[in-house]
Amino acid sequence: MYAPTGVKTSTDYPIPDTMKAWVLGAPGELLLRDKPVPVPKKAEVLVRIDAVAICATDLEIIYHGPPALILGGMPHNKNFTPGHEYMGTVVALGPGVDEYRIGQRVTVEIHAGCGQCKRCREGMYTACHNYGLNYGDVDKGHRANGFTTDGGFCEYQVNNINTLVAIPDTMSDEEATLVVTAGTAMYGLTELGGLVAGESVVVTGPGPIGLLGVAVARALGAHPVILTGTRDNRLKIGRELGADHVVNVRREDAVAAVRRLNGGKGVDYVIECSGAPNAVNEAVRMVNRGGKVCLAAFPHEETPVDIAEIVRNNIYVYGIRGEGKSATHRAEAFMSQKRFDATKIHTHTFPLDDLPTAIRYAKDRVEDAIKVVVKARGVSAAHKVAAE
Ligand SMILES: [Zn+2]
Ligand SMILES: [Zn+2]
Repeated sequence: MYAPTGVKTSTDYPIPDTMKAWVLGAPGELLLRDKPVPVPKKAEVLVRIDAVAICATDLEIIYHGPPALILGGMPHNKNFTPGHEYMGTVVALGPGVDEYRIGQRVTVEIHAGCGQCKRCREGMYTACHNYGLNYGDVDKGHRANGFTTDGGFCEYQVNNINTLVAIPDTMSDEEATLVVTAGTAMYGLTELGGLVAGESVVVTGPGPIGLLGVAVARALGAHPVILTGTRDNRLKIGRELGADHVVNVRREDAVAAVRRLNGGKGVDYVIECSGAPNAVNEAVRMVNRGGKVCLAAFPHEETPVDIAEIVRNNIYVYGIRGEGKSATHRAEAFMSQKRFDATKIHTHTFPLDDLPTAIRYAKDRVEDAIKVVVKARGVSAAHKVAAE
């Protein structure tokens, strides 16, 4: 039985010594293995993973490798468990932990950071200068579960207490997996962008971050909130999440439409979530002079950008990695207040044993999957659940 020295456990939540864990083999290959249940150290807890959502970045990692960085290199064939958008129940406390209690439901943000570099000290721990340095004699203590340390496609994982976000019982497991996605949109708009109520926002690309970007922008009091995309069913969800206007870019020029919908002017912010080849140039033309463009998607190819347009118009362009400065806590506050219904983007649930099917649904957008969730318990293998 699991009883490491100095770790507090409870008979209410018995913990086995080993667990099922998916590990990454060759690119695109996932293998179900047994692994020891990890042991929380100082300032860490053991989380029983109750649900984990699949993110586009998981697909990047599984098929291509980056941005995962394991033992200083690519993540393949290193017994590495991916998955990062998970939630669960605290079942064991590392030495000295009294901030959380056993039995408490939590969702997690990903980046613990090293806590000692310049960016970590500024709260920008997702841009930690010691990213991936957590092994051998270069161990700086950095952790980003599912990127630089084992993640959530398994039954248990350790998390630093600074990555935990307590959630209310009124929030379902599936909804709780989406907090971190909303946290990314929050970080881009407020902590990095400085958005204040009444400013105007365009979101380009109705994927998970884009759709929750609409919801967060609306909840923050942005006006108008405009969503652009190519698929009407996704744009419809965007409307339900608070977009004042939607633009199908197959039918209408996106830049012209945005200017028309905003009284002939560009908007204050664009959150670029499409990764389309001309997306940056279009975003730059959608903002007003002095406006800001937040880049949340990464194209695979280098793309030419009209720098002169950016310079002449004093436009701010910034990339966003993950969700720093505790933005996830503020996203959770919106969600627990039911300021928007993030579950609108959750489309499918599969058992953990069926992870490869779940990955296929997410990757190929089978049945127009948006957010696909995997659960270790409570979902029968024979029945995938399609959310309504
Ligand atoms: Zn993600
Ligand atoms: Zn750091």
